[in-house]
Amino acid sequence: MVATTEEVLELHGRVRACTACPLHLTRIQAVPGYGPATARVMAVGEAPGENEDREGKPFVGAAGRLLTSLLESAGLDRRDIYITNIVKCRPPRNRDPEPAEVEACSHYLDEQIEMLQPDVILLLGRHALTRLLPGAGGISRLHGERVRRDDRVFVPLYHPAAALYNAGLRETLDADMRRVRGYLADAEAARARRAGGASASELREVAAASGGDQMDLF
Ligand code: URA
Ligand code: SF4
Repeated sequence: MVATTEEVLELHGRVRACTACPLHLTRIQAVPGYGPATARVMAVGEAPGENEDREGKPFVGAAGRLLTSLLESAGLDRRDIYITNIVKCRPPRNRDPEPAEVEACSHYLDEQIEMLQPDVILLLGRHALTRLLPGAGGISRLHGERVRRDDRVFVPLYHPAAALYNAGLRETLDADMRRVRGYLADAEAARARRAGGASASELREVAAASGGDQMDLF
């Protein structure tokens, strides 16, 4: 069952109040995530940067604008997507998050995935890739591919910040992003088949329990 908006906002509140790792000491504010609880696509970046720390929302700086336009040219509306990061508070001077910080923070991401049950999870950059698909391989091999694990569909992509000043990478990211709509359509169809299967077997159970004479109720 996908979580309600209230449940997602309750989690956001816990993130904003979190002091579980030293990053809370240097942040302006935590950046829990942004987007509808009903999103079928989740995007996971690395950590908030300066703009995100100031505004409290993920991907609002230059990398965020590039992300929005890449999504748009791939036929995806950013407003339909739930966007978050591996680590919810900005590391000082935008350094890489430390393993202990990732460890302290990542249960929030696990909860977000559990709550939203997204059909497709976009992994933006190698931090998201190594956290959510440990051992799967590197970004240069997996970018744009669909990786299924634990009944979920992941798509590793280059990080938009890396593509900002690298035209070649940007072209690759653009091409990879265009594959996401097809992955999403496949995943939605698979979910519909699972739901259809469940209700058909439920019907059989009801029919069996009632001796078969209640079928016209459905
Ligand atoms: N880069 C990230 O990884 N996340 C953000 O929220 C912004 C930039
Ligand atoms: Fe808490 Fe995560 Fe922020 Fe650390 S980075 S203080 S674990 S929300």
